[in-house]
Amino acid sequence: MIDYKELAVKGVKKLNPYIPGKPISELEREMGISNIIKLASNENPLGSSPVAMKAMADTLNEIELYPDGNGFELKKVLAAKHNVDMDQITLGNGSNDVLVLLTEAFLDTTQNAVYSQYCFAVYPIAIQAVGATHKQIPAKGWDTDSPLGHDLDAMLAAIDEDTRLVFVANPNNPTGNHLSEAELKGFIAKIPEHVIVIVDEAYLEYSSIEEQVDASAWLPEFPNLVVTRTFSKAYGLAGLRVGYALSNPDIANVINRIRQPFNVNSLALIAAEHAVSDIEFLERSLLENSMGMKILENTCGNLGLRYVPSKGNFLLIDFEKDASNIYMDLLKSGIITRPVANYGLTDCLRITIGTQQQMQRLDKMMEKVCG
Ligand SMILES: *Cc1c(COP(=O)(O)O)cnc(C)c1O
Repeated sequence: MIDYKELAVKGVKKLNPYIPGKPISELEREMGISNIIKLASNENPLGSSPVAMKAMADTLNEIELYPDGNGFELKKVLAAKHNVDMDQITLGNGSNDVLVLLTEAFLDTTQNAVYSQYCFAVYPIAIQAVGATHKQIPAKGWDTDSPLGHDLDAMLAAIDEDTRLVFVANPNNPTGNHLSEAELKGFIAKIPEHVIVIVDEAYLEYSSIEEQVDASAWLPEFPNLVVTRTFSKAYGLAGLRVGYALSNPDIANVINRIRQPFNVNSLALIAAEHAVSDIEFLERSLLENSMGMKILENTCGNLGLRYVPSKGNFLLIDFEKDASNIYMDLLKSGIITRPVANYGLTDCLRITIGTQQQMQRLDKMMEKVCG
């Protein structure tokens, strides 16, 4: 029999698939334990907006119908929120979808994309899938002004005439570090016109309004800027899969040519539309996150563990030795965290901020495991 794996196109043959956080049901099956908490996928521990849930429930009796392929109602709400025209918005089955569409639309095998070491794992996968060249730029060290952060000068220097995309996550996952307005805007201003810069703002909502570095405000200045957002994190709708890109209308037009006509399902559309206006749920989520973050930072302080200061809903913690045993010990106690060895961070775990109660349970376990 022929090896069908060998028939795959060149880029795909060499692709390392994304490794997700362990689902609760899997741990239940494997270890027969209950009362599990999952702190592995940056999900919202408070659930999701009750307003969005109600809107979804009211739509359940219409699921025999195709969704609105243009997502009119959601785009209308988003256009008002971001002060953009509706033709600047591209909706996706999660922002992951939009990131993949951007690589498919703008990268071929003769071109390259620039991104930082320790960036979101989806970027290299999407670039690899289209067979383009990777320019992964080493991140800054632990003992710098931005531990494990993007080296923007080196990223700029790596851009050449064949570069089409540059990825920057702000805040970044799995590290949690973030760039100031001056740093990010200065960087974008130096990017040549033929290069599209994607600023991934999946965790922007976890900063207070005053502290948010919202690149979408600069869209009028930079026609080569694309900003992506998601409903998966602060809005608590990860299971529905909905995110979007904001860009100039020409770029949106191109991505829209290749997306599936109904890439966002009707429940996701209605939930997202209503989630945007549920400020109360969002504020409650941010407050719980900042309290939980303080608890985990304290845990680390007490145990003498260093971490990357985070503007997200997670913390990257360095155990300064192989972290796989700590991961396993926490797992056996019913706490799922996220190994990041696949990022080259074998000594670290990424831990999502849960409720304050969950973080207290984690605190006790970490003391047992690391103390
Ligand atoms: C979680 C995350 C996303 C969002 O993914 P969705 O497909 O919208 O669920 C995008 N970028 C980063 C950096 C993330 O961590």
